[in-house]
Amino acid sequence: MITGRFAPSPSGKMHLGNLFSFLLAWCAVRSAGGEMVLRMEDLDPQRTSPEYAAMIRRDLLRFGLDWDREVPCQSTRTAAYDAAFARLEAMGLLYPCYCSRSQVHAASAPHLGQSEFVYSGTCRDLSPEQRSAKKRPPAWRLRVPDEEWSVHDGLQGDYCELLSRDCGDFVLRRADGVYAYQLAVVVDDADNGVTQVVRGRDLLASTPRQMYLFSLLGRPAPEYYHVPLLLAPDGRRLSKRDGDLDLEALLTRFSPEEIIGALAHAAGLIEKNEAISASELAAEFDWNKVKKEDICLTL
Ligand code: GLU
Repeated sequence: MITGRFAPSPSGKMHLGNLFSFLLAWCAVRSAGGEMVLRMEDLDPQRTSPEYAAMIRRDLLRFGLDWDREVPCQSTRTAAYDAAFARLEAMGLLYPCYCSRSQVHAASAPHLGQSEFVYSGTCRDLSPEQRSAKKRPPAWRLRVPDEEWSVHDGLQGDYCELLSRDCGDFVLRRADGVYAYQLAVVVDDADNGVTQVVRGRDLLASTPRQMYLFSLLGRPAPEYYHVPLLLAPDGRRLSKRDGDLDLEALLTRFSPEEIIGALAHAAGLIEKNEAISASELAAEFDWNKVKKEDICLTL
């Protein structure tokens, strides 16, 4: 049986882009008679809140996107992340990093437009004396090998990275003790029994390093489908700033079924842009129809 997941970050309200990925994730699971798990990715206490989590649950249900179980949110899972961290540390793969930029964004998934940089390795080979001379608490990075890691994505095909060149040693725990998205998502997908991950195409670039972590931790990796991003009719990425994505505003003009119909039509799942419920759409769902390239949306 397929187990899929919704893994929203309750760092803001759900927007049209999130809805699009969640709709495809839900249809893929329901059309195969699988189960859906909801996991709140609230790693960063400063950026997430239970109020946003409650709004996201409400919005999913408004669109008929239900789940079979909600698993513990990430803020309660520190013991599981500690255990994975200790295992990697015992393998000699972690090192403390004192560079100030190591903090940036590590607790949230790196979406497009957020610059990710390949770490130059400044702190990789510090001596014990050099480490003890540092005054600030360190972040912890995973040493990546000079190896290619690839993923066969169900929609995008094969995607491969030479970890040392394309990704670099990445942060697993920030200096403030908050675990990084990359570690937490792997531990959680494994512990939650997730077998199918459907998420935005901008996270494809995080997948080789997640595959590497699954293998280090001796856990099976799920299958992946990275779905297109939504673009405005003029080709811009839809952005929160423009209000293009605001579900609240859209729901004053359209019904949930009209919005689902527009998304399903844009994805290539239905021929006409007409109202349809999530469960009717699940009956039509077929990965072969889903477009791979980013999608211009007209509502
Ligand atoms: N919580 C992440 C986000 O909302 C999703 C990560 C994932 O699907 O792996 O960006």
